[in-house]
Amino acid sequence: MKILVVGSGGREHALAWKLAQSERIQMVYVAPGNGGTARDGRLVNVDLTDPAQLADFVVAEHVAFTVVGPEVPLAAGIVNLFRARGLKIFGPTKEAAQLESSKDFAKAFMQRHGIPTAAYKTFSDVAQAHAYIDAQGAPIVIKADGLAAGKGVVVAMTLQEAHDAADLMLLDNRLGDAGARIVVEEFLAGEEASFIVMCDGKHVLPLATSQDHKRLKDHDEGPNTGGMGAYSPAPIVTPEMHARVMREVINPTINGMAKDGTVFTGFLYAGLMIDAQGNLKTLEFNCRMGDPETQPIMARLKSDLVSVMEHAINGTLDTVELEWDRRTAVGVVMAAPGYPDNARKGDVIDGIPAETPECVTFHAGTTIVDGTLQTNGGRVLCVVGLGDSIKTAQKQAYETVDKIRFNGAQFRRDIGWRGLKH
Ligand code: ATP
Repeated sequence: MKILVVGSGGREHALAWKLAQSERIQMVYVAPGNGGTARDGRLVNVDLTDPAQLADFVVAEHVAFTVVGPEVPLAAGIVNLFRARGLKIFGPTKEAAQLESSKDFAKAFMQRHGIPTAAYKTFSDVAQAHAYIDAQGAPIVIKADGLAAGKGVVVAMTLQEAHDAADLMLLDNRLGDAGARIVVEEFLAGEEASFIVMCDGKHVLPLATSQDHKRLKDHDEGPNTGGMGAYSPAPIVTPEMHARVMREVINPTINGMAKDGTVFTGFLYAGLMIDAQGNLKTLEFNCRMGDPETQPIMARLKSDLVSVMEHAINGTLDTVELEWDRRTAVGVVMAAPGYPDNARKGDVIDGIPAETPECVTFHAGTTIVDGTLQTNGGRVLCVVGLGDSIKTAQKQAYETVDKIRFNGAQFRRDIGWRGLKH
């Protein structure tokens, strides 16, 4: 069987790596892939990103089904296009992907369906936005409505920062169309968790829980990034909390989407905020798996992902029970110098050890130039260590991180720290 994975990040490397472990796999194509997927003998990179060309490729190569990693092709309607051509694909339609591609859509949806989330108001008029910000006070959160690759959210600790962010998006048009409308949202305190499920339109299958580390530096300092590391499982999501998330967030979302005529299929990611009193709020939805959460989650998945995907595409997820490695997985992102603003490219990468049962290195911003592995983006690698505790998983990951060399590598030393506190 041949499968296509769409995307080029660490998330897609991890998905392709896991799919390729199935005995039924003849080939996993990754489009466009990266330096890591190019080097893995079981994976083949395909230099295509246009959905129509990908559909032609799938037909020509008799690909059984396609899995989409990133949000951009989903929001552009790759699932609609594939389905219209009778091709099997796992992901949400363009309409359902609005849960991620429009924060205003997501907030109005949550309000309508009674899903717990922060209070908010949406603006396209800057004067009205300023007046609302003044009335609410700081801290307050300003979010671009559209997709902004993780750059669309400003957690403003002062009124000045909030007004500046509103001006930047609505007046200076700095984020283009994505920032033509903004959501101004109540600030929530607490601990975040990532809760990812698979949906086949009728049934929901939760994956293992995880926790991301958004800030660039140790102790959650420095600017926000796409994510500097993640670990799984996340102890903040106790069995009781797990049941509440399913009852209060996931099930009402899936049912609400169906009721609204936008049936959700694909990975649904709920970004949660849980405070010390046990209050649960939904920060955001993503219509795909998280990066870097996918890397530790895939490292722990024992079930055959090909068969799970088939059930997801055929609407029979209710028959699936996932099996997980009981160990903890800690994924440490190694980023290029200058990330997240202006990541440098073209540095030679050395010292990546071979995969072991305790550690695997997934590639993201890497490429092969004249046979040499080089950096090619902000987040370069994600090193995932597995161990019986967070501490031993950290040790496995960091032993490998310390062997890998490229100029100016940035990484955090404390991935998993919140888990250690529990
Ligand atoms: P992602 O890259 O995860 O898709 P995004 O751009 O869609 O991010 P959000 O996830 O909504 O944006 O917000 C990014 C981060 O900002 C969150 O992970 C959280 O740390 C912080 N944040 C968002 N909303 C709030 C809030 N209401 N209160 C406090 N912090 C918040």
